[in-house]
Amino acid sequence: MRLESPSHTSHAADLAPDTVVVAAGRPERGHDAPVNPPIVLSSTYVGTGQVVDGDRAYGRYSNPTWDPLEEALSELEGASLPGLIFGSGLAAASAALSLVPAGGVLVMPKHSYQGALVMASELEARGLLTLRTVDIADTEAVIAAINGDDGGAAGGASVPASMLWLESPTNPMLEVADLRALSVAASAAGAVVVTDNTFSTPLVQKPLELGSDVVLHSVTKYLAGHSDVVLGALVTSNAQLRAELLHHRSIHGAIAGPFEAWLALRGLRTLALRVERSQATAAELAQRLLNHSQIDAVRFPGLEQDPGHRRAKAQMRGFGSILAVEVRGGAAAADAVVQALRLWTPATSLGGVESLIERRRRHENEPASVPENLLRLSVGIENAEDLWADLLQALAVSATR
Ligand code: PLP
Repeated sequence: MRLESPSHTSHAADLAPDTVVVAAGRPERGHDAPVNPPIVLSSTYVGTGQVVDGDRAYGRYSNPTWDPLEEALSELEGASLPGLIFGSGLAAASAALSLVPAGGVLVMPKHSYQGALVMASELEARGLLTLRTVDIADTEAVIAAINGDDGGAAGGASVPASMLWLESPTNPMLEVADLRALSVAASAAGAVVVTDNTFSTPLVQKPLELGSDVVLHSVTKYLAGHSDVVLGALVTSNAQLRAELLHHRSIHGAIAGPFEAWLALRGLRTLALRVERSQATAAELAQRLLNHSQIDAVRFPGLEQDPGHRRAKAQMRGFGSILAVEVRGGAAAADAVVQALRLWTPATSLGGVESLIERRRRHENEPASVPENLLRLSVGIENAEDLWADLLQALAVSATR
């Protein structure tokens, strides 16, 4: 099976990331060559008639439409090998979790994206691994859980971890992990470090540079950016890990459709502009919400008083475009805000051009430690004053219930 994709252009590491999103993964230049990669719809490839077929062989192993996106993601994350795209972010998570050996210990943030937590809990319930959930912002406690020095307090016996799962900032609590310190400790204990970088994108945070072995993306979110694609990706510079992940994708079959891969690359072209705009608006809205009488708390690492601010400033370029607020008056007041909004869309998911909002505890599997009145806001690229005006009128409606 092919690992490299010589038919697409790759760029020197000296290009700025906002250029890479535009320039990476273009077809080779030539007279009348297309500017964009074509969509290849084929479930199989012409072989040689010999025992060994060509490099691509079959559509579950490879598709030329995947290659440019996999190259672009690799360049953006600073990896030395092409990325691997999957049928969804959770399909990528499933492949990543397959790296935990039978009976191994997995350390995971207690406020990870709930789908990853459910998957890990189900693997534990089937006796395949031991799950230790931790407060990812508490570096000392996480290191104790990695080394098995916590007396099993976080789950499992005193055995070192096989995998450290990182997500920072967490979804939806916006806690910030010390990625470098935790990666160093996990590597010293022999654990594989996987970081879900969905919230930040490689433009804001580069986990491989901070010591992670594998980076995970729900490409569904910012990378594709238009709420019209479900896709996932893993990126690593470790050839052995990449081979295992590729094998998992080929055999378990959670592959991407060619059209989705093409759409995601198209969306990626504007990532830098979208991130710049939505981050600026998120920072402004967070500051304004902080002073609103109907809001009890704002969680956003860009706020100076946020517990994760200093850490985020040290390891991120910006603070992302997700914030969470706790609405005065509990779940009912929070629901009333969502129902009164006209511009913000009440919907799950995040990272699209349109601003989305939801009360996370309406999901059955959301951890009980997420406050009932917490609304997660995914700030899009609309005019900031229009977004603010809509929030103001909805908060006023909620206050007069
Ligand atoms: N990781 C994070 C942080 C997410 O928010 C999500 C989805 O909401 C996922 C992973 C899962 O991605 P997908 O929905 O593409 O399977």
